[in-house]
Amino acid sequence: MEDGNRRGAVLVRFWGTRGSIPVPSRATVGYGGNTACVQVETAGGAQIILDCGTGARELGLHLCTHLPSPAQVSLLLSHTHWDHIQGIPFFAPVYQEGSSVTFYGARGMNRQLGELLAAQMDSSYFPVRLDQLRAEIGHREVGEAAFQIGDALIQPRYLNHTTLCLGYRITVGGASVVYATDHEPYTHLALRPGGEVLHAGDLGLIAFARDADLLIHDAQYSDDEYPGKIGWGHSTARYAASIAAAAHVKRLALFHHDPAHSDEFLDRHVERTRELLADLQAPPEVFAAAEGEELRLAGAGQAGFRGERVQVAAQPAARRPRVLIADDNRLIVRMIQDALAEDGYELLVANDGEQAVSRALAERPDLMILDVEMPRATGFEVCARLRREPDASQLPVIMLTSLDQPQDMARGFEAGVSDYITKPFTRTILRARVRSWLVRSGVV
Ligand SMILES: [Zn+2]
Ligand SMILES: [Zn+2]
Repeated sequence: MEDGNRRGAVLVRFWGTRGSIPVPSRATVGYGGNTACVQVETAGGAQIILDCGTGARELGLHLCTHLPSPAQVSLLLSHTHWDHIQGIPFFAPVYQEGSSVTFYGARGMNRQLGELLAAQMDSSYFPVRLDQLRAEIGHREVGEAAFQIGDALIQPRYLNHTTLCLGYRITVGGASVVYATDHEPYTHLALRPGGEVLHAGDLGLIAFARDADLLIHDAQYSDDEYPGKIGWGHSTARYAASIAAAAHVKRLALFHHDPAHSDEFLDRHVERTRELLADLQAPPEVFAAAEGEELRLAGAGQAGFRGERVQVAAQPAARRPRVLIADDNRLIVRMIQDALAEDGYELLVANDGEQAVSRALAERPDLMILDVEMPRATGFEVCARLRREPDASQLPVIMLTSLDQPQDMARGFEAGVSDYITKPFTRTILRARVRSWLVRSGVV
């Protein structure tokens, strides 16, 4: 650990800030071309790395020179898309005899974390296999339950992306940093800083980031770009700003820069985001994360977030998870069945509201995807009725509908739905949302 950090509870350094693919060029030299990698060093000496994109190469070399050998490093992966793992084979500490490198990743994927990482280092793609690395390599799959790394409390939370993806809140001695990248708003309904937030998922994220000293948030798109990218799993700077403002964070780092965005574009992106927040009292300080930049967070005495009760999942059930699809439109049913086909769930179907209630009570599904406008009973009525039944009161219900007005969504949450998805949506987002609810409730 460097001496300088003894003055602050947490030192945060950006080694890679780009999304999707590395883009080294003269146009990106200011904010950097390497993909996601952020170092968090605690006063107690814990080395916590958020994602292992191509920025991890330089970080690895830095650690080998500055850390006592053998090193102990914990890598928290948001997910295993290329731009978040491509630096692993070039991360020097994995080749150090006696060092220990532990990877943390989302529980509930179809393959074990170790398998997912080994696949990238298969001999067709890379000459050294994961099991040939000299350091002691560990894998830990985590859900939303908190855990400790040295003096840091780590609180994970599932985000909204095209695959299971975790955000992390790291709290050390009263300082908190929240990392939420590869995340899209839970609803396309317009959000403005200081405006009302209605979706339970967005409210959950606000609670998760509450009072953080630093929020590192996906801000890949401008407002003009987003309509063409709905369902791709990323945010606008406007959304990041609205979450930061509602959560009263001190600083917001715009992150996961689009490969097409030059330094000049990102300067304007920051300016526009500051303007959005200008009318607020004590707005968060906004900047775009830049490679090589570092911040010290002393903290204001806030503990970890307490906004939500985090359920510790039970042992996964031995049987296949059962998903009930309640929709009178056979084309939509077919599309949902296709979207979930690879996950091996048992899929049940109800074609009207009454059948939805009776099948939910008789067959005890683990999750329900519920349309609104159906014969015999609307989705709002179905959900309200199920919530009065002890056997179905905790059933995760995802309302999937073309009703996209704020009052419709508010009505859904009043009726007791767990989640609300409006059209258009992508199959990958639907699949990941279903999966995260099944992991949350301990089914997978
Ligand atoms: Zn990414
Ligand atoms: Zn991704």
